[in-house]
Amino acid sequence: MGPPLKPRKIFIMKEIEILKQLQKIDSQIFQIKQSLEDKPKKISILEQEFEKLTGSLKSLEADYKKVQMEHKEKDLELQTKEASVNKHKGQLSQIKTNKEYNALQLEIEKMKADNSLLEEQIIMLLDKIDSIKSSITKEKEVLAAEEKKLNSAKAAVESEINDLQDSLNKLKLQRKTVIPADLKPEVLDLYERIRENRGEIAIVPVQDGSCSGCFMNLRAQVLNDLSMGKLLTCDTCSRILYVESEK
Ligand SMILES: [Zn+2]
Repeated sequence: MGPPLKPRKIFIMKEIEILKQLQKIDSQIFQIKQSLEDKPKKISILEQEFEKLTGSLKSLEADYKKVQMEHKEKDLELQTKEASVNKHKGQLSQIKTNKEYNALQLEIEKMKADNSLLEEQIIMLLDKIDSIKSSITKEKEVLAAEEKKLNSAKAAVESEINDLQDSLNKLKLQRKTVIPADLKPEVLDLYERIRENRGEIAIVPVQDGSCSGCFMNLRAQVLNDLSMGKLLTCDTCSRILYVESEK
């Protein structure tokens, strides 16, 4: 049995070293966990950006449907009107008077003129269909290239996530090896409690006589006790304090 003060001081120094190592690992774990939370957000942002790009294809496809429908309607209208012209033409031979004949002939000419207008409209619609079709093809090519970019960007983020997960697993193992079996549970409890209450950082070095956690000046007595190797917490922010050994 040696003198009571000295071994205690050595023991506390060891505790401080353990807590410092633990803090270093826990800070890294915290950062990795935050990155792991952010990465999936990055993926969904990429997906949202791609989704926006599909908007013009969707509207082109809607236009295509609309114009095709219009074409179908006009085509049907033309067929009906052409049948009507033929029917009127057939009636010409049964007409008895010149006057009636001329009137019917005039009507047929008028219907033919209407039909050729309709034909022009149909040709314009067919041109429109062709042009939308080629726009769709181009847009699909653009999107395929964008999708390729999206997939490789997503794969890159996913591999970053895997790397982070690996690092996290390693750090968790490392954390276990840093805590010796003989570490007093109350020391670990104190550390964990402060870390929980003070946003991850539980142990901080003294800098120019101040706590580097809250930047408040420390009392001379505290500084003195710290230099004796005592385990002390800051009066203001409750974090565990340590004096950095001079190099
Ligand atoms: Zn403090």
